[in-house]
Amino acid sequence: MKCDPTLYRAAPPSLAVKPRLIRHLFLPPLVIALMIGLGYLGFWISEHYGVRGLAENGERQLELHARAVESEISKYTYLPSLLELESSVSQLLDDPTPEHRKTVNEYLEGLNRRSRSRAIYVMDTTGRVMATSNWRDVDSYLGEDLSFRAYFQNAVRGQPGRFYGIGSTSGEPGYYLAHGLEQQGKIIGVAVVKVRLEAMEERWQRARLEAFVSDENGIIILSSDPARRLKSVRPLSDETKERLARSLQYYWFPLNELVPLARERLAEGMEKLTFPANTELVSDERAISYLSQTRPLSDTPWNFTLLTPLEDLRRQAINQGILVAVAFALVAFLLIAWNERRKVIATRLAAREALQEANNQLERRITERTTDLRASNERLKGQIRERRQAEETLRRAQDELVQAGKLAAIGQMSTSIAHELNQPLAALRTLSGNTVRFLERGQLDIASTNLKTINELIDRMGRITASLRAFARRGDDQGRASLGKAVEAALQLLGGRLEKLDIQIHSGFDDVQLQIDQTRLEQILVNLIGNALDAMQTQPEPKLWLEGQAADGKYRLRVRDNGHGIDPEARKHLFEPFFTTKPGEQGLGLGLTLSASLAAAAGGHLGVEYPLERGTTFVLNLPLVRLSPAEPL
Ligand code: ADP
Repeated sequence: MKCDPTLYRAAPPSLAVKPRLIRHLFLPPLVIALMIGLGYLGFWISEHYGVRGLAENGERQLELHARAVESEISKYTYLPSLLELESSVSQLLDDPTPEHRKTVNEYLEGLNRRSRSRAIYVMDTTGRVMATSNWRDVDSYLGEDLSFRAYFQNAVRGQPGRFYGIGSTSGEPGYYLAHGLEQQGKIIGVAVVKVRLEAMEERWQRARLEAFVSDENGIIILSSDPARRLKSVRPLSDETKERLARSLQYYWFPLNELVPLARERLAEGMEKLTFPANTELVSDERAISYLSQTRPLSDTPWNFTLLTPLEDLRRQAINQGILVAVAFALVAFLLIAWNERRKVIATRLAAREALQEANNQLERRITERTTDLRASNERLKGQIRERRQAEETLRRAQDELVQAGKLAAIGQMSTSIAHELNQPLAALRTLSGNTVRFLERGQLDIASTNLKTINELIDRMGRITASLRAFARRGDDQGRASLGKAVEAALQLLGGRLEKLDIQIHSGFDDVQLQIDQTRLEQILVNLIGNALDAMQTQPEPKLWLEGQAADGKYRLRVRDNGHGIDPEARKHLFEPFFTTKPGEQGLGLGLTLSASLAAAAGGHLGVEYPLERGTTFVLNLPLVRLSPAEPL
């Protein structure tokens, strides 16, 4: 089985290597670039949606805590106006006697204790403190002129005075709520409540909330982170700074600006701020980002700002970005692996298809050849059939010829047969006549001897006719013959002529078993010996040699005479049918032809040799019978 090698030839190297080289050169940077890009995208989306989520949550927190601040402040709003109802206050303002002052001082002290405010005090229209809740303290406001305070200036004009500032006496920050006290439509004084809002800051710190409140000047007045306190959330002009310094609202604090490292406006009231992380809450030096959400506080010019740290979100977004990049790398790896596997499978499939195609081609060729072979086989079978028929026809013709030859031989021999039979018949007649006479004379012993001779003669005649019958009978190709018996039968048949010529017979053969019909072997021998006798008619010392030897599973019998021999011209036609050199009715020219045919039919051969001295030798080759061990000889 040979396959076409071209079917398995790989792609030319120049075509196969180039795209692979390009792929190997460009694929890794491409995958890395996509990994980075997708990782960043994942980070960005995660951060974006995270900020949105935080903003929504922050919105709620902002609302909650802003309300808390509002309620804390509004709790005290009504308190200064209550003093309007207190008659001792108006009496003091009308008539500032020590008794009135004492009464009001004590009243204010009690009120301050109950309302848990920092201080409550009353001023006259010039801004002097007439009575105060902290009248017992060393740093009491009593008698102090606070007319420069903005809340006083507003309240004395009938406007609500709201003010965050640091106390000029105590240096303590506080929220001042002032109210102009009216009597019969005229302002007679101002009542002030100072409130401390530090509790809010503590509450925020406890809740780990980062928040601050900035006032109308943009100054942070309350902050969960003390470092941010009294810093301005927006830039202040020099003029404003000077004005604020003069008002002593923030005492002598420098009012530095709270400068973020980065500021990104996200929406109305929402910013992303990045501060250096050197505050008290965060110990390390990294920058820290916040989502800043601001909302104005109602009834005040203040703003509440909630800061939500973005660090966790950022870390989460980074993790998600890394996750996306890793997932992409994994998918890319799987895709590349899958692609490589697909190519390997495709190559294998192509090879298998090529092999299949080669097999198919081979099978087609085999089928074609088988068809051819079958056709030629059929032709051969036809030829064999024809040959067999021809052989059959030939065999039949041969049989017919043999039969005709035998009949011819019988015809030819009829004279000698008649002679052979006449002699005993004549002898029988004479003997029977004599025997009758001897019986009549009573010579019984002589009569009995004659009768024995008569019996012998009849036996001889029976043998002659039996031989003739056997010779005339049709034989078959299969069978076995005894060489000894066949020679004996032939010599018996030709007995008369042998005796007449007084021939010396030299026998030198074995009594072997030959693969030929007994009768046919006898026929052959009769022909050969008969021809020898014919050739030795004029020979003064006729001699016949019958010599045999076995070789290669065959037996070779040489029938040699010292007759006149065969002249060279006749040798050419010796085995041709009807070739004869014998005169008149003596020869039919069938003997050798038939004998050769019978020998060939039995798987043997009949040939001729011409000795240098007188005579002719016919060589009969016949196969020996192969005896099985069980078979007797
Ligand atoms: P027939 O005997 O009828 O002539 P054969 O076929 O037997 O036919 O023989 C053919 C011829 O071969 C004979 O006529 C004879 O001339 C020659 N021949 C055969 N045997 C011998 C022999 N032993 N010696 C000389 N001539 C022979």
